[in-house]
Amino acid sequence: TSQLMAGKRGLIMGLANDKSIAWGIAKACANAGAELAFSYQGEALKKRVDPLAAEVGSDIVLPCDVGDEDSIDALFDALGKHWDKFDFIVHAIGFSDKSELRGRYVDTSKQNFLMSMDISVWSFTSVVKRAAPMMRDGGSALTLTYYGAEKVMPHYNVMGVAKAALEASVRYLAEDLGRDAIRVNAISAGTIKTLAASGIGDFRYIMKWNEYNSPLRRTVTQDEVGNSALYLLSDLGRAVTGEVHHVDAGYHVIGMKNPDAPDI
Ligand code: NAD
Repeated sequence: TSQLMAGKRGLIMGLANDKSIAWGIAKACANAGAELAFSYQGEALKKRVDPLAAEVGSDIVLPCDVGDEDSIDALFDALGKHWDKFDFIVHAIGFSDKSELRGRYVDTSKQNFLMSMDISVWSFTSVVKRAAPMMRDGGSALTLTYYGAEKVMPHYNVMGVAKAALEASVRYLAEDLGRDAIRVNAISAGTIKTLAASGIGDFRYIMKWNEYNSPLRRTVTQDEVGNSALYLLSDLGRAVTGEVHHVDAGYHVIGMKNPDAPDI
């Protein structure tokens, strides 16, 4: 894959640390020759993101809080000073108050519902809208979703509702931008222990359940998600748009507990 992304430039949003799914994607793209820029949320994360960016040869590290439209504008203004055009964007951002990632969905507050939709759904449309005019030779946009959009998963609650809306946005954006050769896809990743995931109630139990019951009898890694992302972000995926691609060791095809699975 060493030349697959040669000459391509991409913005990676949602890198928090070396456990982030964004990091698996960044490494896969950089190893394939892509030139990268990163955005980070808040000064506290800059210390973590700077050295990781340097590791993949990038010195374009820009702040952006997607809850603030001015901050999104500022990101694309700043990026435009480095690059007059680019080829791909990765949105690996989601957020909900963790006090609502347990208990019942029906108890979700309006305030957290709107905030979760803002950060986890609207932000993708908002950044893709700004990225599109800079993707002058066509492009590829990718977001991250989860099976909790399709089926009820314990504790996922409002994030499941948000991911369902995010997946619908992928389809609408794919139609709107397809005529400009811009593709829009999502990866529905299996469970991975990251900062965001640790906010979900009983996450260890969910990880174990996936490991025992997925067809491959294991969970997935950041690097595996990264390699699948490479397919969608590169010309290998040139005819693929509007797609939600499961990278989950096959978990989504299973209808029932594996009878041989140990008790958790
Ligand atoms: P992570 O904690 O490493 O990344 C989440 C990122 O979202 C962080 O970088 C954080 O700074 C960013 N973010 C949150 N609010 C923001 C805001 N207002 N402005 C800008 N950035 C903001 O965790 P992750 O698991 O790598 O999450 C990346 C994506 O993958 C999320 O959309 C998540 O829902 C999705 N996902 C994760 C899993 C999993 O099991 N970890 C599975 C499927 C999908």
